[in-house]
Amino acid sequence: MKLVVYCKKCNSKNNLSEKARDRHILSQIIGENFKLKCTNCSEVRSYSVNEVHAEQGILLVFLFLLILSITIMSLVFLKDYFSINTWWLIPGLIAIPTSFYAGVSNAENKKIKSFNRFKIKI
Ligand SMILES: [Zn+2]
Repeated sequence: MKLVVYCKKCNSKNNLSEKARDRHILSQIIGENFKLKCTNCSEVRSYSVNEVHAEQGILLVFLFLLILSITIMSLVFLKDYFSINTWWLIPGLIAIPTSFYAGVSNAENKKIKSFNRFKIKI
């Protein structure tokens, strides 16, 4: 989960480096209102924590693809160097990282929804 703010001028996405599971905790870290310089248009504007949105980070997808490619490469390696027929292992070896990803992604989506649902009173 990453926290983002959309620029009020150019509407481009700006990532926040702070980590928080809800807006209340975020407001304790950066304040209810904070200033942010847009990475696209360099406009400095004031934002409230209620304008911060949670989104899915790219890290999870990256990890999934990494595990999947390592799995496939090791199957190819085993087949080529030891002449072991490994192709029957493929469905299982793809299913394991996929179900892991689905589980983690589901938990991540719950966190994102709960962050976006609750706004703080200012
Ligand atoms: Zn901007």
